[in-house]
Amino acid sequence: MSVQVVSAAAAAKVPEVELKDLSPSEAEPQLGLSTAAVSAMAPPAGGGDPEAPAPVAERPPAPGPGSGPAAALSPAAGKVPQASAMKRSDPHHQHQRHRDGGEALVSPDGTVTEAPRTVKKQIQFADQKQEFNKRPTKIGRRSLSRSISQSSTDSYSSAASYTDSSDDETSPRDKQQKNSKGSSDFCVKNIKQAEFGRREIEIAEQEMPALMALRKRAQGEKPLAGAKIVGCTHITAQTAVLMETLGALGAQCRWAACNIYSTLNEVAAALAENGFPVFAWKGESEDDFWWCIDRCVNVEGWQPNMILDDGGDLTHWIYKKYPNMFKKIKGIVEESVTGVHRLYQLSKAGKLCVPAMNVNDSVTKQKFDNLYCCRESILDGLKRTTDMMFGGKQVVVCGYGEVGKGCCAALKAMGSIVYVTEIDPICALQACMDGFRLVKLNEVIRQVDIVITCTGNKNVVTREHLDRMKNSCIVCNMGHSNTEIDVASLRTPELTWERVRSQVDHVIWPDGKRIVLLAEGRLLNLSCSTVPTFVLSITATTQALALIELYNAPEGRYKQDVYLLPKKMDEYVASLHLPTFDAHLTELTDEQAKYLGLNKNGPFKPNYYRY
Ligand code: NAD
Repeated sequence: MSVQVVSAAAAAKVPEVELKDLSPSEAEPQLGLSTAAVSAMAPPAGGGDPEAPAPVAERPPAPGPGSGPAAALSPAAGKVPQASAMKRSDPHHQHQRHRDGGEALVSPDGTVTEAPRTVKKQIQFADQKQEFNKRPTKIGRRSLSRSISQSSTDSYSSAASYTDSSDDETSPRDKQQKNSKGSSDFCVKNIKQAEFGRREIEIAEQEMPALMALRKRAQGEKPLAGAKIVGCTHITAQTAVLMETLGALGAQCRWAACNIYSTLNEVAAALAENGFPVFAWKGESEDDFWWCIDRCVNVEGWQPNMILDDGGDLTHWIYKKYPNMFKKIKGIVEESVTGVHRLYQLSKAGKLCVPAMNVNDSVTKQKFDNLYCCRESILDGLKRTTDMMFGGKQVVVCGYGEVGKGCCAALKAMGSIVYVTEIDPICALQACMDGFRLVKLNEVIRQVDIVITCTGNKNVVTREHLDRMKNSCIVCNMGHSNTEIDVASLRTPELTWERVRSQVDHVIWPDGKRIVLLAEGRLLNLSCSTVPTFVLSITATTQALALIELYNAPEGRYKQDVYLLPKKMDEYVASLHLPTFDAHLTELTDEQAKYLGLNKNGPFKPNYYRY
């Protein structure tokens, strides 16, 4: 595959990006998931339909026995679903991504602050020469350390830091650590925590049935043999299950965290003990963040050939610092709204030089990770940080997309009085029909007990709103970036900040009024609570399949564009999770399949179906 960084001059030739499926003739490349990967994952029983599934309206149903959607992906399945080159024309999507992701690229002041409370943006790109010299001062480290480990009740995960000693203020970068096999190719908070982390990983494995099945069935087949995957994701027990699965499938992995707060130190230690070069700890400074990413890619004698990114920072880093690496990279798998937006920007500018899979827009990601994950974790995040009761509380949720819908449903179920703000009349109408009062933020800002942002936008909660909130109002964000609440505007001399717990700040006005700011405006659930493993299993399975597909795809199957995993794979990922519920899927009869114009083994919906 000839890979090159396309010059800016070429940008003009790149057609407008729009959302459409490929026509059958354009449909090559097809997903090669009849390769070892899918055969490894396919259920052992079931005949499978040798007929290639086709876009719904384009091919009549294949006759013959079928045995459910997964069967079509069994080794017998000769052909496989088509990947859609995901092109955008959906104005809502474009708009949202522009606001969410586009802003996150900007480095407003380029400064690196030392204590978390003064970090303005979650991550700012360091486009200039990176020297990694802005190490925290002793005081900075102390406040950082306090802020991340002060309380044993304030934590994040069932992997609560039993062993995370707040006395240990030494930066992991200053420590000499080795795992039990003598390797020092990692940088984690404390390698001695590995045993605790291992238990967390074992718990997560119980709730990640599809990955475990993949591991089991791939014994002997190594669809990722030779793959060198560099990853930048939240480092949690669930990610560890994914990484160890990728390892079991033959890949070598190096990993950094995509968020300075979300790393579970014990899990990172367990991975390092298991021989994974992991560079991450909870409470990294911004300089640490980029240093960790650099340690993953800038290695003598090792070059990545696959990227798994969440947020686009790793991809951006390689583009900026090591563009030649793309000559060997076979593809990028990106999980987040923000990262995907960046990929589309690159594609539009003609600068995307390898194929990329947009996992974020897989139905199984968006509907489950965004909606159900947030529905379950919003209450957890609020509870752990504030011990509050929800019944009767007035809450305003900004944004009624997937995340907002999940948050609203959970709070309503707990007896809260929920208001919604929206800019999109369709989502607004959905909110109304679901029984929520649609308001402007100004109308309720004085009376609400909790403000939650879920828009992916910026400055949704402004200083003016913050000024008008009532005493003890809780303010938090569930969106990807910390741009939704104008936290920077609270760093003025007349306001006093008081850290009351890890991830909980009181911001106090001169008249004594205080608001309770959670996670400094970063996404609440990943900073302060656990997220349900089962939901993450769905996303992780999609990621693993996307990596396998891109890695195994013959040259030319994928162009330098952004692709969606095909509907059929979404259905397959879902079907792998159904046995957990002892769920019994109805099979189409031949007659019914013919009537609906469907292949009995799926895909069951057209790509434009909205679920
Ligand atoms: P979405 O596009 O479905 O929903 C966002 C909604 O916010 C849209 O309906 C949009 O119209 C609305 N909106 C935009 N600006 C607004 C404003 N100023 N006021 C009111 N409403 C506004 O996106 P989503 O899937 O719900 O994701 C939202 C954010 O949450 C993204 O940043 C995403 O990356 C993040 N996310 C977080 C988690 C988590 O676990 N916390 C999980 C998935 C996604």
